[in-house]
Amino acid sequence: MITAGKKSGLVALLALASCTSVQKQQGSQQTTTAMEQPQTETNPLLKEWTGPYGGVPAFDKMNLADLKPAMEKAMALNLAEIEAIANKTEPATFVNTIEAMERAGKELNRVFTYYGIWSSNVSTPAFREIQAELAPKISEFNSKISQNEKLFQRIKTVYENAQKNPLPADQQRVVQLVYEGFAMEGADLSPEKKQRYAEINKELSSLYTSFSNNILADEEKYVVYLTKDQLGGLPESFVKAAAKAAADRGQEGKYAVTNTRSSMDQFLTYSDERALREKVWKNYYSRADNGDENDNNENITKILKLRNERVKLMGYDNYAQWRLQNRMAKTPEAAMELMQAVWPAALARVKEEVADMQKVANKTSKTKITIEPWDYRYYAEKVRQQKYDLNSDEVKQYLELGNLTDAIFFTAGELFNFKFTPVPEGSVPVFHEDVKVWEVTDKTTGEHIGLWYLDPFARQGKRSGAWATTYRAHTTFDGKETVLSSNNSNFVKPAPGEPVLVSWDDAETFFHEFGHALHFLASNVKYPTLNSGVRDYTEFQSQLLERWLATDKVINNYLKHYKTGEPMPKELVAKIKKASTFNQGFATTEFLASALMDMHFHLADPNGLDPDKFERETLSKLGMPKEIVMRHRSPHFGHVFSGEGYATGYYGYLWADVLTSDAAEAFAEAPGGFYDPEVAAKLVKYLFAPRNSMDPADAYRQFRGRDAKIDALMRDRGFPVPGPQSKK
Ligand SMILES: [Zn+2]
Repeated sequence: MITAGKKSGLVALLALASCTSVQKQQGSQQTTTAMEQPQTETNPLLKEWTGPYGGVPAFDKMNLADLKPAMEKAMALNLAEIEAIANKTEPATFVNTIEAMERAGKELNRVFTYYGIWSSNVSTPAFREIQAELAPKISEFNSKISQNEKLFQRIKTVYENAQKNPLPADQQRVVQLVYEGFAMEGADLSPEKKQRYAEINKELSSLYTSFSNNILADEEKYVVYLTKDQLGGLPESFVKAAAKAAADRGQEGKYAVTNTRSSMDQFLTYSDERALREKVWKNYYSRADNGDENDNNENITKILKLRNERVKLMGYDNYAQWRLQNRMAKTPEAAMELMQAVWPAALARVKEEVADMQKVANKTSKTKITIEPWDYRYYAEKVRQQKYDLNSDEVKQYLELGNLTDAIFFTAGELFNFKFTPVPEGSVPVFHEDVKVWEVTDKTTGEHIGLWYLDPFARQGKRSGAWATTYRAHTTFDGKETVLSSNNSNFVKPAPGEPVLVSWDDAETFFHEFGHALHFLASNVKYPTLNSGVRDYTEFQSQLLERWLATDKVINNYLKHYKTGEPMPKELVAKIKKASTFNQGFATTEFLASALMDMHFHLADPNGLDPDKFERETLSKLGMPKEIVMRHRSPHFGHVFSGEGYATGYYGYLWADVLTSDAAEAFAEAPGGFYDPEVAAKLVKYLFAPRNSMDPADAYRQFRGRDAKIDALMRDRGFPVPGPQSKK
């Protein structure tokens, strides 16, 4: 995932998303110049980045006491810059307005890099207090810019002039994005409405913080401790990690099933203890829905009401309509149409999956049982073993982290002509000893492209899941700035000398996040704003990169047994490929239920809306199978309610998946397959390097010669392809 933002990088970082990439959108208010900054700057978080590679963040100088003053000062500096631009007396031009804005906010960008590390990689209760304190201030800061009347009038002038006399293509695109961004944030409203708009945003920012803190609180509060006789079915790696997790919580000798997705998912897949599975399942899917002080239901209603009120100020019918106007889908109807095209096939598949599982249960269970949601993963794994004879643990022996890292570097070399070299030990500061850094250069010319940081292991204070982010994005308009990109995962850190073996899913995710990093690194845009992401498009590049994991070259050279060094056997590869459509009923249904709910919440009248009841009734209308629950139930649907990053945007994963399947077929059909140089060149040229400097639909058409079709996606999931050539 990418936590992408709106205009400003700030907002972006507050909205943690779950896939994965925190993309600091280099927006209009981005960078502050040093113009008003005296040389006496003593706060290390504000200081210009020095050292090799065009300067690197001083992660070794991070002191939490510096954060608040640094943020306050950086915001003040940025506001002063913006004021100076807004108050210029000469007529507004691209250079004196738009380009000046692109240049502003440098200190703030730097502080936000550190803020992002504290928030995602090394969080502490002390940081979270500061974060809660800063959230409304940041919101206020954003409002001051997005509602600066004089500034907007200048932007509008440049925009209107550019409509008459178009600027060079990339400048034209910057002007359009900046103008639309401001207009969408209410810049055109009357003063009274603007005031209300800012109040709403301030209230929302606190609600978002409260929403995510409530989830976190329930994740920490509900831990299931197992005794030695309750470990039946669990893999050794899980047992080891659970023993450590229990010891960390002062329960030496027990085994902790923590209330996180990875822990829950593994436990439900393998544990033979049905009653405990039910307990773990209930804990997880009741997060922030327990009717206590951490319950999020009231927050949801408040958030929906405020969002609705805000877009009504600007004359929109509902939040979804406002949000989707600059997405690839453009309208809620288009997004809904895609979801509804896939939904019936997913439901039909669930029926088959449940029937298969019931058969296994009838044969193996001592008592007569009916498949319940906490049985799904467990019996699915049994069916998987039976039908495909595929043992996840056997697969893991071939997926060693060091080899996988070499595999992604190889892929980047083939497609992008990039070379990755470890930087000399100690030459680039890191925020934790586990973090490693590589220099990225062009394989042919040796030209420096950027750095890639990898923070691989789970630890306390690090958010769960995997994500990608940038500390600095590529620009050239003010001298060339090279990319500082990073990937973050939560692999379990092994004992010294032990290998890190990961699941097939985790290996795919590793490729996925690296796809985001390549998207950052490949950028050739001139202006910061053109690095911004389009929500239903930015997951496409990363999802596409996952496909290289299963290519022959990667399998034969990098998926080697950690002990014997033998490549993964052909039969095992064939089994994995054959099993790839397995359980797609479950996966598609749990995802789509959340995506549809996200959209329905934002199309509904929020007045008097009871989230719990709304969720129940909507699912019932959709015909949700009783054996499956939404991937993210509403009270802990952080994508949608911890910020605005994915609000009415969760469908974006599916949208991007349609593009992914369709683009992957372009490679599959090419003479050189996934390493076809011509298709690869087009991939880089149209789908990666331009970032947001081209309209995504146009860029895709240039790559494929036509629009994407849903057919390849249906084939990939093993669903029937719908009637005459359906378009997305
Ligand atoms: Zn992602």
